[in-house]
Amino acid sequence: MLADPIRSASPVPLDLDAAREVLGRVWGHADFRGLQAQVVAEVLAGRDVMAVLPTGGGKSVCYQIPAILRPGVGLVVSPLIALMTDQVEALKQQGVAAARLDSGVGMDERSAIWRAARSGELDLLYVSPEGLASGAMLERLSELQLSLIAIDEAHCVSQWGHDFRPDYRTLGRLAEVFPGVPRIAVTATADARTRDDILASLRLGAARVFVDSFARPNLQLSAERKINGSRARTDAAVVELVRERRGKSGVVYCGSRDGCERVAQTLRDAGTNAIAYHAGFDARERDKRLERFLAEDGAVMVATIAFGMGVDKPDVRFVIHADPPGSLEAYWQEIGRAGRDGEPAEGITLYGPSDIAWSLRRLEGRPMAEEVKQVQTRKVRQLFAMLDGATCRPQAVRRYFGEQDAQPCGVCDICGDPPATFDAVVPAQKALAAVQRLGERFGRTRVVDHLLGKTKDVQPWEAGLSTWGIGADLSLTGWRDVIDHLMFEGLLVEDPNEGKPIIQLGDPEAVRAVYRGERPVRVRQAPVRVVEAERPRRNAGRNLAVEGLDADVRARFEVLRAWRRDRASEQHVPP
Ligand code: ADP
Ligand code: MG
Ligand code: ZN
Repeated sequence: MLADPIRSASPVPLDLDAAREVLGRVWGHADFRGLQAQVVAEVLAGRDVMAVLPTGGGKSVCYQIPAILRPGVGLVVSPLIALMTDQVEALKQQGVAAARLDSGVGMDERSAIWRAARSGELDLLYVSPEGLASGAMLERLSELQLSLIAIDEAHCVSQWGHDFRPDYRTLGRLAEVFPGVPRIAVTATADARTRDDILASLRLGAARVFVDSFARPNLQLSAERKINGSRARTDAAVVELVRERRGKSGVVYCGSRDGCERVAQTLRDAGTNAIAYHAGFDARERDKRLERFLAEDGAVMVATIAFGMGVDKPDVRFVIHADPPGSLEAYWQEIGRAGRDGEPAEGITLYGPSDIAWSLRRLEGRPMAEEVKQVQTRKVRQLFAMLDGATCRPQAVRRYFGEQDAQPCGVCDICGDPPATFDAVVPAQKALAAVQRLGERFGRTRVVDHLLGKTKDVQPWEAGLSTWGIGADLSLTGWRDVIDHLMFEGLLVEDPNEGKPIIQLGDPEAVRAVYRGERPVRVRQAPVRVVEAERPRRNAGRNLAVEGLDADVRARFEVLRAWRRDRASEQHVPP
C-alpha cells in the first residue's frame, strides 16, 4: 500500500527550530516554504520520504539541512556532474563540508574525501548513479555512518518519466545495503503513475509522500500555432518574441542541435546576446556557456533539453519553446525554469502539426518496451491536446498531475482571451471518413481538396466517393484547422512517408468514439470561417446528414478494423 499524498498543512510533529536556524544561518532564508518544513521534519525523525515539489520549490534544502543536523555523512545521488558541481560549490561557499565523487575527481582528492568522510568531517557527499553501481564504492560507503540517502531528480528512475536513466534503477538496492538509514527521494515531476513507479523502484513503499501544489502563479503561459512547414517563419517568430523582451534573460528550447545553432545564429544576427547550448559541446564548453548565461545581462540561452536540470538562475524572465517539449511533465519542468524568483515571467510555446508527427516518429525509433512506448505516445498526444486546446493552461496541466481542484489561472492566453470554439464533431466525422475513404494514402492538401470537392487531378473513382465534396460548408483554412486539431488529438496521424506525408487514422478507439458522436471535438473558432458555398456539382443534391454519415462510416469503419486485425495477424494479404 502506498501512502496517500499529503497536500494540506498538518501539525509538524518535531521541533524544527534547529532546522530553521540552519536555514537562516547557512542560506539566509527567513523560513521554510510550502511543504519543506514537513519534509525536513520527517527526515530529521529518520523516516523515508518522497517529496514532489515544483521546480525552484527548494528541494535541495529538504535533504541538505537534515544531513547537516543528523550525525554522519549525507549521501546524495544526483544525475548530472554539472548539478553536483553547482551544489557542492555553493555549499562550500556557505561553509558546509560537501564533496563530490564523480569521474572528474582525481585520485588524491578521492582519498582525501574518503578520509574526511570516515572521520566524520563531511556533511554531504554527492555521487553519480553510475558510481554507486560499482561494488567498490558501495563497500567503502558501508564503512561510513550515513545520516541519510537523498535521491535527487528521482523521476530519472522511472521509464514513465522523461529523463529515464537506467543506472537509477539499481538504487533500490540501497534499501538493503543501508537498512535503517532514512532515504529521501525528491523530484519536480510526477504524475501518479510515475510517482508509484519511483516508490516501487526505490523500495520506498513505507515512505510518506508529500506532493506540493504545482501552481506557479507568477507564470503567464501561452501557446501559438506555427505556420506549418515553414522553418524560416518559426525562426522569425522566435526573433520577434525575443525582440519584444529585449534586455531580459530567457531560454529558447529547440528540438535539435542543428535547430539550436540556427536559431541562436538568427537571434545573434538580430542583435540578441544568444548562446547556443546542447550536448554536442564538450563539458568544458558547456560550462563556459552556462557561466556566460548566468553572468551576462539579458543573455538568451538557445538550448536543447540538455540544458536545464537543476540550473538555478532566479531571474529567467521567459522560456520560449521554438519546438514543443515531449510531454506535459517536460513542459511544466521547462517553463518552470522561468521566474524562479517569484517575479512575473512568461512561458510561450510554438507548436505545429509537423511537431506532433516528429515527436511520435522519434518515439517509434526508440528501443523500448511496447507498453512504455504506448504510454509515451499517449503523453505526446496529451501535450498537444493541451497546446491546441481551449482550457486554461495551468489548470489543464495541474489536473493532469492529479490536482483535480485546480482553478483557472486568470493570466494565461486562454484565460485572458478565451477562444471561441465550435462543436466540430460533424466536420471531424467528415474528415475521418474522407481520410478513410481515400485509403489513407494522401496528405492534408489532397484530403481538404477532396472534402471541398476541388481535387484538381480528380480520379474518376474519387469523384464517386461518398465523401467527395461533403465539406463545402467550411473554408479551406477551416478544414486545415480541423484536420490539424484532429492530429493534435491523435484522431489522425501523419506518416512521414519519406518526405511526402500522408494522413492516416489514429487511435481506433478514439476514432470510433467520434464516429459514434460519443467523443466531443471542439476546434477553435477564430481562424475557421464558414463560407457560404454551393455544394460542388458532382455531389449536388446528395444528402449527407450526420446521422446517415455516422452510420455509413461506422459500417465502413468496422470493415477497416477487421481488415487491420487481419493484416496485423498476417493471416492473409489484404485486398
Ligand atoms: P529545486 O526544488 O528546483 O531543486 P532548489 O533547491 O535549487 O530548487 O532551490 C531553488 C532556490 O530556492 C534556491 O535559490 C534556494 O536557495 C531557494 N530556497 C530554497 N528554500 C527557500 C526558502 N525556504 N525560502 C527562500 N528561498 C528558498
Ligand atoms: Mg533541484
Ligand atoms: Zn489560465
